[in-house]
Amino acid sequence: MPQSKKGKYSSRLSNTRKQGTHGSFRTHEGFYRMMIESLDGQSIFTTDKGGVISSWNSGSEKLFGYKEKEVIGKNVSLIFTPEDIKKNIPKKELKEAKKKDKVVEERNHIRKNGSLFWASGLIYPLRDEKKVHRGFTFILINRTEEKAFDKRKDDFISTATHELKTPVMSIRLFAEIVEQQTKKMGDKIGLESVRELNIQLDRLTALMNYLLDVAKIQQGKLKLEKTFFDVSVFIHEVITVVKGISTGHIIRFTKSTPKEMYADRERISQVLTNLVSNAIKYSEKGTKVIVKSTHDKKNIIISIQDFGFGIPKSEQKLIFSRFYRANSAIENNISGIGLGLYVAIQIVKAHHGKMWVKSAVGKGSTFYFSIPIKTK
Ligand code: ADP
Repeated sequence: MPQSKKGKYSSRLSNTRKQGTHGSFRTHEGFYRMMIESLDGQSIFTTDKGGVISSWNSGSEKLFGYKEKEVIGKNVSLIFTPEDIKKNIPKKELKEAKKKDKVVEERNHIRKNGSLFWASGLIYPLRDEKKVHRGFTFILINRTEEKAFDKRKDDFISTATHELKTPVMSIRLFAEIVEQQTKKMGDKIGLESVRELNIQLDRLTALMNYLLDVAKIQQGKLKLEKTFFDVSVFIHEVITVVKGISTGHIIRFTKSTPKEMYADRERISQVLTNLVSNAIKYSEKGTKVIVKSTHDKKNIIISIQDFGFGIPKSEQKLIFSRFYRANSAIENNISGIGLGLYVAIQIVKAHHGKMWVKSAVGKGSTFYFSIPIKTK
């Protein structure tokens, strides 16, 4: 594809656009132009390597309100909000798209008339037959309505969960009173019922806490209180707590060289507890769970290995999304709500870390998370 110096590349596209309106699509370019123009619900446009716009389909004209001739030769930053420009987002996104071969675009963009809309889409690097980088392709759609609906849904979940807190607390208090009374009376069936009631209350509280965390994450309100702490001591503590609850597995911790982590201890404990509990939940009793802590120059890496069901490749990315549960969990009737990994990965990301999984069906899974090292 020719370099998009103003006039050269853009005029070729303008010509093919003309061809299109005259109904002749005998050339390849004419055909592709027709295809792109027919997707007029989507904004599809290209830029050169520096982000200068070189083509602009009719979907872009509709979405942004700029005619093709108004934007050709202009920098793509004209569709970004002043706040994003201040943060250098346009340049950063192009750099990332080139590096990663694709970038997911989820943000507010600005129209010619100054109004904002929520855009969702992708930015791809454009490469010629010799794989030489020539520019970028943007594919964007307007998701303002869906975004507003998502917000209403999240607000509802958050409000409903807050409202549930008071009645749940009261039930817990009454359960305590009933427990004391049934103990005094030596009523075994009554005591058993109260114990079951407390188990169900714990489940309900866990679900509510997850939902509140999800709401916090969605609203960008997840606050971290970071401190320095010893990784080995921390892992020992978490394992001891989990061992107290579940006795059917052999949990091993492979110590590493002493290292301090700078993170929100409570939140990272939530992450590790969730991963160790999952390792137990999704493997047979009597099998091993191995927790390791290693580090490289930049990160502390904690891994949790089990020898359980494993997760098929097709589901390995999906399990980190909200409410997703792998088929094996559903088929084997293992209780859960599909929020633990979503919350865990968001906590790790909030620490500028990463979380990933390696797994083979029938052999087991290893979950990893890394937290950047900070020196005092
Ligand atoms: P939950 O366990 O409540 O369903 P999570 O978000 O913690 O929710 O996990 C999402 C899904 O990922 C689980 O439903 C399960 O299918 C899968 N999964 C998580 N951890 C493991 C594991 N160690 N082995 C196999 N599958 C797992």
